[in-house]
Order: sequence, then C-alpha cells, then structure tokens
Amino acid sequence: MSVDVEDYFQVWALSPVIRRDDWDDHALRVDASTRRVLDLFDQRQAKATFFTLGWVAERAPNLIREIVARGHELASHGYDHVKVFDQTPDEFRADVEKTKRILEDAGGVAVAGFRAAGFSIDQRTPWAHEILAETGHLYSSSSHPIRHDHYGDPNAPRAPHRLGGLIEAPVATTEVFGRRISSAGGGWFRAAPYALSRRLIARAADSLDGPTIFYFHPWEIDAEQPRVDGLPVKSRLRHYLNLDRMEAKLDRLLSDFDWGRIDDALGVNRLRGATA
Ligand SMILES: [Zn+2]
Repeated sequence: MSVDVEDYFQVWALSPVIRRDDWDDHALRVDASTRRVLDLFDQRQAKATFFTLGWVAERAPNLIREIVARGHELASHGYDHVKVFDQTPDEFRADVEKTKRILEDAGGVAVAGFRAAGFSIDQRTPWAHEILAETGHLYSSSSHPIRHDHYGDPNAPRAPHRLGGLIEAPVATTEVFGRRISSAGGGWFRAAPYALSRRLIARAADSLDGPTIFYFHPWEIDAEQPRVDGLPVKSRLRHYLNLDRMEAKLDRLLSDFDWGRIDDALGVNRLRGATA
C-alpha cells in the first residue's frame, strides 16, 4: 500500500489554475487528511509506504514523525512535485538529495524509496534510476506500465526489476483480454464500482511476480477541500469524482487484503543490512 503525501493544490491537474508560487497562500489540509489515513490504517492494522513531498515535510514535521511512529515507511516524492522529465539530470539530483535530507531529518529514519511526481520517469529520463542509486535510494516505484494520456509505457515490465543500480517496483497492473489495465488506484479506483476494483486487484495479485502496489492521495478522502474554479472539464471530473465515497471504499480495500510497506515487500532493508 502506498500514499502520495501532497496537498490538493499541488496536483498537476490543478496547475493551470494554482501556480507553484501561490502554494503558500493556501491553508494546509494534507496534515489533517493524512492523519485520517493513519487512523484508517490503524483500524485495519495495515502498514504502508508514504511517498512524501519535501515541501510538505518542511511545513508539517510533526506529521512526518507520526507516520514513522505508527510503523509506516517514510519515502520520497521529490521536493515540490516537479515532473522528472521537466528537470535536467543536475536539477533532479539536487531535488532528490535535498528531499531525502529533509525527510530523514524530520523522521529520524533512513529513506530508501522514491516515487516520481505523476510517474514521470520514462524514456526521456534514462539517467534517473542511476542518480537515485547514487544518492542512496534503494528502490523506485515510479513506473505505471499502461497506456495513459499523461504517463506510462505499456511495454515496460509489470513486476519489480533491476534498473540503473536499484529496484524499480511498478504500481499494479493486470491483463484483461490481452489489454493491460491499471489495478493501482488513482481516479480509476474512485470511478469504478468497488466490486470491480477488488476483482482487478485480486487478479493483479495472482499474476504479478512481486507485490501488488496500490496508491492514493490524502486529498482523495478530503471531500470538503475548497473547489478550484476555472479547471478544464476533464480535470475537474477526474479530480472531484466520488471524493465523498473514497474513505468507505478504502476501508473495504484495507479489510479485504493484507497491506504492508513496500520496503518490506521488496526486502530492501535486508539489502541495506548486507551492504552496511
Ligand atoms: Zn504526486
């Protein structure tokens, strides 16, 4: 299980309306919504990996300590949600080094994992995994190997594999009638009836050689978040669809399957022990 810890106003779909420079004008909601996620996980005894923005960690250090204290994995989602294919290799290196340091200082634990904003590591960024390995990361979960309008390579491996000196652990997909589809969360999980999602996730779990990685965002259970005017129709539909039903759906998902941390599922802590 994974959670991408970012606030509603940092979502890429809202970027035509809310500029990066204006983030600090918005009241932080991610602290409260992530705490609700933590309570939900506690009730179902689920553990997860929290891919967290450095920007959020600087503003909510107590939340970072709480994530660690409740037994979850603290991991990096980059500093401020810039897509990797919009960065130079040097900018990417500076970003992931800085974020790792901020998270480790706030959480008091080593950070092993990284997830690119919007799954933005692809054929345009052949240097990304190597830089992650050089900066001390042990795995990445930045691949969503499907056909999609914003990201994805439908021919990339579905299971964890070694790439550029570390492990790439893609989020969950399954194959239906020869077509690869996502079983990983996002807008798809909010749109589909729960019974269908459950079937697809079970199918992914049966067919994947490795963990079935699901992801969502704390803002997806924050139905009271301020509505942003002026969005394109498609973005508005995607962002606001079924927010009020998400928490109940998640609760069923947490009780229907056993969920754990990605570092445990990949055995990377053993790896760290062996090389330390
Ligand atoms: Zn994100």
